[in-house]
Amino acid sequence: MVIEYILLFAIFYTWHAMGITIGYHRLLSHRSFSCSKAVEYFWVLPGFLAFEGSPIWWATIHRAHHKWVETPLDPHSPRALGLKYAFTGWLAEKEYAPHLDPYKQCKDLVADPIYRFLDFNGRLPLGHAMGFACCFAFRLILWALFGWQVALISLLAGASVLAIPLMLNVVCHLPKYGYKNYALADDSVNVWWVGLLAMGEGWHNNHHAAPGSARTGMLPHEFDATWLMLKFMKKIGLITRMNVADHDVLLARAAAELAKQNNMSPVEVPAAPVLVTIGGGKSGGRVRDFGAKRAAVRKRRELSKQS
Ligand SMILES: [Zn+2]
Ligand SMILES: [Zn+2]
Repeated sequence: MVIEYILLFAIFYTWHAMGITIGYHRLLSHRSFSCSKAVEYFWVLPGFLAFEGSPIWWATIHRAHHKWVETPLDPHSPRALGLKYAFTGWLAEKEYAPHLDPYKQCKDLVADPIYRFLDFNGRLPLGHAMGFACCFAFRLILWALFGWQVALISLLAGASVLAIPLMLNVVCHLPKYGYKNYALADDSVNVWWVGLLAMGEGWHNNHHAAPGSARTGMLPHEFDATWLMLKFMKKIGLITRMNVADHDVLLARAAAELAKQNNMSPVEVPAAPVLVTIGGGKSGGRVRDFGAKRAAVRKRRELSKQS
């Protein structure tokens, strides 16, 4: 009986955790792959039932984390805002900070009526309350159908999964706890045990080097359970396009950035793109360079400011 309960916990844990990693993070926040709306909702649901709240709120905060990493505008930077606030303090905010606007930063999600409904037009306490109510209602249904033991195990799995991204936000931004594959200016590090608990999200330095990559485990020992699931979904046709980072290009770009910061002699950067797109329509194997695209947009903004 105990073995059955442990197995059930593992199933619920994996389902909820992948709801966050596949649904909320790699799909909604980064659009690192494309799939049908049905598949999207299939993965967002277990994330929502793990107390993750409004998908729009989650993605807005997360996109801001990448955009303003380690600055006071980063919603949960341990370096800029302190450990306590970075862990749970930011959850108590009652509204979006002035620099956060889902209608600008998450237009793609605001366009979805279900996500819009769950966001309560930016009234965050209402959105959180609705999320929690749905999570408890789900466990009540499990109780009625399968008994209190199943409901309790599901609740424990959901609560455990809730703690993982909160801990990851802090631990994977404290250099003393991990290592860097890529010499980025931010504090992001790869932490092996977070990598295992968070289904591959603990390879956080890799993730910051290429946020749009569907794969975060880049070295052979960096086990990325989410990537294995995404590869399987691609194989059976549920995913039509995936962006995948190239390890050698990331290394070269990070080394070039480091040389620039330290005023060392320039390091040559290969012209190859950071992200290679697999699939994506009739052409198949379309290649897009998001790093170069961002640099071009920045350059255009600078030029328009000067003129
Ligand atoms: Zn981060
Ligand atoms: Zn991310």
